[in-house]
Amino acid sequence: MASIPDRDFVRRAADIECVLCDVDGVLTDGGLYYDRRGHGMLRFDSRDGLGLRLAQAAGLRTGVLSGRSSPALDHRARELDLDPILTGIADKGAAFDAFVESEGLSLRQVAYIGDDLPDLVVLARCGLSFAPADAAAEVRTVVHRVLERPGGGGVVREMVEAILRARGDWDEAFRPFTFER
Ligand SMILES: [Mg+2]
Repeated sequence: MASIPDRDFVRRAADIECVLCDVDGVLTDGGLYYDRRGHGMLRFDSRDGLGLRLAQAAGLRTGVLSGRSSPALDHRARELDLDPILTGIADKGAAFDAFVESEGLSLRQVAYIGDDLPDLVVLARCGLSFAPADAAAEVRTVVHRVLERPGGGGVVREMVEAILRARGDWDEAFRPFTFER
């Protein structure tokens, strides 16, 4: 299992401005639900929603980069004020490069979490890379950190907490949920 030393993780986390998430197998467990008309439904974990809100409150930009294009995904992404919402992407590497370039970001300023082979090209480029516990073996061996939770089971929330803790921002992010305000 891949991982980098904590010191390197802290250094990389400090540079992050934007967190991008794959959707199938990361924000979902990879399951696809269809009704009898063929309309797709997706199941998201509410803990990931809170994690993305915490990241935003800490000043991080949060977005999705997905091969999937679906009304359910668009709805959830808009509900969480995600930006960018890059969906229906056939070539994630090209889309990632175009996004970074158009926003004037450097590769080191973007964190990415993905679970399967189409994500490898992005995971290899970004400043800080993550995979859920149940990601493909090829993905788990290349990322900076493999997380403990599986896709669709709060892994994005776990990633955000790891980044914010490494930046020393977790206590501040957590404060609105305590009684001492
Ligand atoms: Mg995926």
